[in-house]
Amino acid sequence: MPMPKSKTLTSAQDRYLATIYGFAEQGREVTTGELAKALGVTPASVSEALRQLESRKLVERRSWGRYALSQKGWEVAMRMSHNHRVLETYFVSVLGLSEDDACAEAAKIDAVVSDVLIARMCRALSWPNICVHGRPIHHGFCRGGGP
Ligand SMILES: [Zn+2]
Ligand SMILES: [Zn+2]
Repeated sequence: MPMPKSKTLTSAQDRYLATIYGFAEQGREVTTGELAKALGVTPASVSEALRQLESRKLVERRSWGRYALSQKGWEVAMRMSHNHRVLETYFVSVLGLSEDDACAEAAKIDAVVSDVLIARMCRALSWPNICVHGRPIHHGFCRGGGP
């Protein structure tokens, strides 16, 4: 089964998924207020974005006003996080960028970079387990297999 792509999402929606994924990695569901704070936007725009993500079945509303990724949202976010972390690791260890610059540059292209390019970067780096921020990198498609 092909992995879902996030190409049809707006970059703002991508950032929401990535942020919710970051909370999920710590075992947490997220509130509108926490998302607003993390993304530096108003709670009103968070509500609107969550409504769109919910209608696309990427995010699910849980109890107590908390939100979590759906299975589909999780797959999209996991792939994007993989790409982001591989890119920034490559930028730091091969190109010599600072961690902050590498992270900012990676954020611009992590949702649109091709599988072929990312897989080559993963191979060049020998499939690192953690990114420059110390967060886990889960390899899957880049090794020629499933997730
Ligand atoms: Zn980063
Ligand atoms: Zn990989």
